[in-house]
Amino acid sequence: MRIAIGQLWQETNTLNPLPTRRANFDQFGVLRGDELLEKLATTNEVGGFIQALAQWPEHPELAGLVRLPAWPGGMATADTFAWIIREFDEAMSRVGRCDAVLLALHGAMAAEGHWDVEGELLARIRRHFGPDIPLVATLDLHANITERMVANADTLVLYHTAPHIDVFETGQRAAGVLRRILVDGERPITAFQKIPASMPAEKANTQLADGMSADFRRRLAAWEQRPEVLAAGLATVQPWLDVPEFGSAVLVTTNAIRDPDGALAQSLCAELAADVWRRRNEYMPELVSIEDSVARAHAETQGLVVLSDAADATTSGAPGDSVWLLRELAKYAWPRPVLLTVVAPEVVAECDALGVGANWSGTLGGRRDTRFGFALPWEAEVERLFDARFTLNGHLGKNLAIDMGRSVVLQRNAIRVIVTTLSGPHFAPELFQAAGFDPFTASVVVAKSPCGFRAVYAAQAAAIYSVRAPGCAPSDYWNYPFQRIPRPTWPWDELSDWRPAPSLKPPQGTC
Ligand SMILES: [Zn+2]
Repeated sequence: MRIAIGQLWQETNTLNPLPTRRANFDQFGVLRGDELLEKLATTNEVGGFIQALAQWPEHPELAGLVRLPAWPGGMATADTFAWIIREFDEAMSRVGRCDAVLLALHGAMAAEGHWDVEGELLARIRRHFGPDIPLVATLDLHANITERMVANADTLVLYHTAPHIDVFETGQRAAGVLRRILVDGERPITAFQKIPASMPAEKANTQLADGMSADFRRRLAAWEQRPEVLAAGLATVQPWLDVPEFGSAVLVTTNAIRDPDGALAQSLCAELAADVWRRRNEYMPELVSIEDSVARAHAETQGLVVLSDAADATTSGAPGDSVWLLRELAKYAWPRPVLLTVVAPEVVAECDALGVGANWSGTLGGRRDTRFGFALPWEAEVERLFDARFTLNGHLGKNLAIDMGRSVVLQRNAIRVIVTTLSGPHFAPELFQAAGFDPFTASVVVAKSPCGFRAVYAAQAAAIYSVRAPGCAPSDYWNYPFQRIPRPTWPWDELSDWRPAPSLKPPQGTC
């Protein structure tokens, strides 16, 4: 028994003017063949696959395809898309014969001229290996699921959590589904329903005990315990994605041997899609203006205040050099450190040349986000130079190696601007710790994240505010220009009489 494993991971934000290129993948860490199996053995979905497969009594032989990861960012170039396809083609030829394929995908990647990158990749892999080889793929909860993805995978297994704290477990669940198909002979039949809506990330938080997201998560987990069900998932879609087949989706896959006409799959799928639609207004976030959020943070003298700058969330593919909040924070005196990050390789290079203790002056911001950002004149002392390298655990990561390159701490009174060379998790306490700070004792942490940051800060912060700032990943995205998404789509538009009617995809090879 031989099982091929691969990964393509990038979340595309089409509002971000900076294109994603091959170099972004090379920087994050391309792995091919055995190297993939060795280096990812305990990391993320792929680690989940590998650890689960290691428990199989058949002792399957694993074959590493390729791992292509890039941090969330702008649309990939056409050249980058062609390179991705080439890498997978070469990997499939190298691997040769196999009995099954496990893929870890994000599901919201777009490239110039290719709006559905994962759909095209799945179709290509399906063509190569044929309809009889089980193909199970994992997807992020923010995936934009398309007909093509559903048609070409035997089962798509989604994260159930936001913040994404079940990435590794999703890999394990996918391996479990594969076992049921490959070893037990189950026949996956999938009900698929697009919802004409995109849900704001703030309230899609499955950790809010009383929210609808926790309720949906519990229901999905309970369904997956039923013997007829292979997988159930809700993708609320990442909203900064201006592509034609855009929208949230519900997927329920059952075993056609127990659910021959897919009636159960369809009824569960329709039930959840209808509930998500009915409760859509509960997803609307409470946003605070830049001025009010900073004033409220200043009024909190004892504890930590976290300001969520979702609009510049590097986890949502924004460029990471917004200074809208910095300008406001600089108007106040603060009792303890105020920590804020900016991606600016040229500033790091200048500070590296000047050395620790020197004064740096120039502008911050407006270089990467040329659409919604601006350049703020800034003068500060070079307090520390460091390499932003650490292991990410929690939201988005399990043992995930992060390298944001050479970085600098710019100090001006209590304000510390942590400037990094590369984008990355600009909310992670590990980043602030690498910069020499304890974020939990700071006055203010600006988290460039809409929701994921809550996994680690919610219990420790005196207050958290979701700030309404301009940027490439704004919380109020429906006020921004989108050209390609289908209309009507909520919350851009209101539809009064939408009802789910899930499509049904029969087991592979029978359509
Ligand atoms: Zn996500």
